[in-house]
Order: sequence, then structure tokens, then C-alpha cells
Amino acid sequence: MPEGDTVWNTARVLQRALAGARLTGSDFRVPQLAATDLTGWTVRESASRGKHLLLRLTAPPDEGNGGRDWTLHSHLRMDGAWRAYAPGDRWAARPAHLIRVVLRSPGAVAVGYHLHELALIPTAEEESLVGHLGPDLLGPDWDPDEAVRRLAARPDETIGEALLDQRNLAGVGNLYKCEVLFLRGVSPWTPVRAVPDLAGTVGLAQRLLAANRGRWTQSTTGSLHRGQTSYVYGRRAQPCRRCGTAIRKEELGERVTYWCPACQPDR
Ligand SMILES: [Zn+2]
Repeated sequence: MPEGDTVWNTARVLQRALAGARLTGSDFRVPQLAATDLTGWTVRESASRGKHLLLRLTAPPDEGNGGRDWTLHSHLRMDGAWRAYAPGDRWAARPAHLIRVVLRSPGAVAVGYHLHELALIPTAEEESLVGHLGPDLLGPDWDPDEAVRRLAARPDETIGEALLDQRNLAGVGNLYKCEVLFLRGVSPWTPVRAVPDLAGTVGLAQRLLAANRGRWTQSTTGSLHRGQTSYVYGRRAQPCRRCGTAIRKEELGERVTYWCPACQPDR
């Protein structure tokens, strides 16, 4: 599951590659957009909202219907990615059959691999796709009080599930969920109502994501050395960095939880 900082970084890659550019070609390889041609469209900006990517474009004047401001929405889910290549470069990041869209500009080619929820909608209707999201941890309008309010509104949910629920706050995936709860000494199965300091938990999540903006190695420990970047995530059966107890792992579908049973006792 991608985390908010990965999506934020991806939005920046697209911003640097395409912002201000007039597209010289497009190639959509998904049925719902197979007939779409963005040649001549201008890329206004690339933004992220939680785990959603919003590429905002302006249609040429003669395009008409729906106004001129459009948004190409995509979601990376577990396995999606955007890459920017220089014109003439080989597209080597992923196998070609995973390509869902290609956007060409004079200075760069953006290739979207295994993207989900690819849709072209009027920018004025963006809220229909992202309006349900809670405050974005990495957004310019980050609102910790609102995130706490939304979490507290469902007090019986486990904090592990609640942090992943993008309606509460947008951007936390399994990695940050596990790491935040370890650092707070809270078991993932604690009901939200029993979490001692929700504001502190939310604030820590925001700081951890923000610290990893601008790089692709995600660290919650402060170390960027391989094998030392997390306290519990990905460390099943390894000794807790604090107390030496074996880290545990439990899987529920896409929800993976790692925790230290000694540092994060069940209440
Ligand atoms: Zn421990």
C-alpha cells in the first residue's frame, strides 16, 4: 500500500516533468479513456490529495463541453507508479504491458504504470472523487483538529483500522500506521476511545510523513541504512529495538500489522 509521502513525491515528479507544458501526444490504454486525445492540452499543475493524484489540465479553446479546466485522476493503490523520462529514453521502469497512459511533451514523457481509477473529469468536480477524504497530512490545508474530531467520532473502531481509514485523515498506509503506534506505545487493537492522546498520535503521523518528503527511502528511525529504517514494520520475529522482544506480524487481507507485544501491550 503506498503511503502519502510516496504519492506526494510522485506528484512532484509529474509537476517537474510536465507543469506548464503543452502536450504533444497522449496514449490511453484503458477502455474508459481509449478514445481520449490530450494533444494540445496544457498541464497546469500536478497535486496529491492523500493517496490520490490530480493532474490538472487546460483544454484548447475549441474543446467546449464541461469548460476548459480538467483533471486527470489516478490512484496508485498497491502497485501503480508514474515515471518521467526524457524524450528518446527507453521506458525501462516496468514492463510495457503495465502501461496505462503515456503523456508526451516537448521536454518529457510521463508514463503511468498499473494506475487505478484513471478518470478525466472537470476540475470543478474533483470533490466527487476526493471530497470524502479527511484532512491531508501533507496538504497545504492540513487540519489536525479535524482529523482528531473524525477519529473520535467512531470511538469503538480499533486505532489500527482508524488510522488507515482515509475518511479520518488522508495519507497513512500500513508502514506509518505500525510505526506511529509503536512510537506511541499503543497496541493496534486499542479502541480509539482508549488511545491516551489522539492529537499526539495524529501529530506524530504528520511529522513522520513530512520528514520523508522528497526522498524515496522511507525512514521512521532517522537512519537511511538498509535494515534500519523502521522500528517494527517489516521486522517480523526480529528483536524490538527498544526491549528485544520478537516483533509480531498479523495479516488481514491487505491490512498488515507489525507490533511489539511488550512495548504495545493490549489493554
Ligand atoms: Zn519492545
